[in-house]
Amino acid sequence: MNDQTGYSETTQVIHGGQARGRLVRTPVPPVQRGSTILMGSAYGIYDGAQATYGRGGLATQQALREALSDLEHADHTALFPSGLSAITQTLLALTAAGDEVLVADCAYNPTRKFLNGAMRRFGVSARYFDPAADASRIEAMMTPRTRAIYLESPGSLTFDMQDIPAIAAMARRRGVLTVVDNTWAAGVLFKPLDHGVDVSIQSLTKYVCGHSDVFMGSASARGEAAARLAEAACEFGWAVSPDDAYMALRGLKTLHGRLAQHGAGAQIVGDWLADQPQVLSVLSPARADHPGHGLWRRDFSGACGLLGIVLRPASDAAVCAMLEALEVFGLGLSWGGFESLAIPCDPQLGQRAHAPDLGGPLLRLHIGLESPQDLIADLDRGLGRLDQDLGIAQLRRASS
Ligand SMILES: *Cc1c(COP(=O)(O)O)cnc(C)c1O
Repeated sequence: MNDQTGYSETTQVIHGGQARGRLVRTPVPPVQRGSTILMGSAYGIYDGAQATYGRGGLATQQALREALSDLEHADHTALFPSGLSAITQTLLALTAAGDEVLVADCAYNPTRKFLNGAMRRFGVSARYFDPAADASRIEAMMTPRTRAIYLESPGSLTFDMQDIPAIAAMARRRGVLTVVDNTWAAGVLFKPLDHGVDVSIQSLTKYVCGHSDVFMGSASARGEAAARLAEAACEFGWAVSPDDAYMALRGLKTLHGRLAQHGAGAQIVGDWLADQPQVLSVLSPARADHPGHGLWRRDFSGACGLLGIVLRPASDAAVCAMLEALEVFGLGLSWGGFESLAIPCDPQLGQRAHAPDLGGPLLRLHIGLESPQDLIADLDRGLGRLDQDLGIAQLRRASS
């Protein structure tokens, strides 16, 4: 508006500075803020021809949805303010009171909490299967109430692999939906929808955003599941901020390169760990001695930076001292960022229906983008704190 309109200064200032027609093309999408969408015609808000309200996302969220759909080979991707909300809302979108969900027992703990808490209150029950169960054992658990199978492969903390193509084919034949938490693969290393899965969920907080500073989640789907997700996002009113969507888009641009470096670092550190006297085993499906290695080699194109390590039986105090001696590794729950992290896992395993017997305390490491040599030196210092507890100094003296 210009000052020839005769409007007062207040009105001019309020309506001035609009971005109309002013955007030039840049290699990245604009961060478009807005709750209101201005319509070209009065009845345009009712004819369904264009977006009418900012909650569904504007240019930035749309660009992210499209990029994630390309990555996951999906028709549609719904965005959520965290990975956990992507999981809980997908489960709500796909089920109704009276339904049952069969769940891999290695699922992320907060997923289980939601299934056992809120979902149960709404009349949806969950039963957990041994993550090593094959499709026929899962099929044998089905009842007429079974609505969905929830998978996570590799599973949280223990990295159990499920035969996803076989389970998805069985479920499809039985008219049951399949959902996979695909956070480990970051949408890159595994493509669940190409293997017959209905919904692939990611915590974008992890590798996609990749810098330990944003929460975001996605659910990507094809066909009927995609339509249900789109409808549910609308019914429940989910919205994510354009600034956070922008950060996820920025993360996607370096995702493949970062992931390759995380995977290479995890292999170097994992090989070193496997040779240490304090370590019973190193858990990763990318390692030849992992029971799920064959499935991983068949279905996945690489590995991320996560490793489990099982220590020789040691006291809680010694394990604590080991972790607290680490200087490069932080002690923290999340992962997928640039930095290396470690946590003890045993208290979380106690909640499982099919608790694994690993033979010693389980730690989870996230191998960040630091130099693997520095990470190895850090772990060497930490593991040394276990020697007295394990009698390793004596063993070493005796063998030299
Ligand atoms: C972290 C994580 C989530 C939850 O993601 P948030 O974005 O932290 O809510 C879900 N699934 C897996 C496997 C995770 O590791």
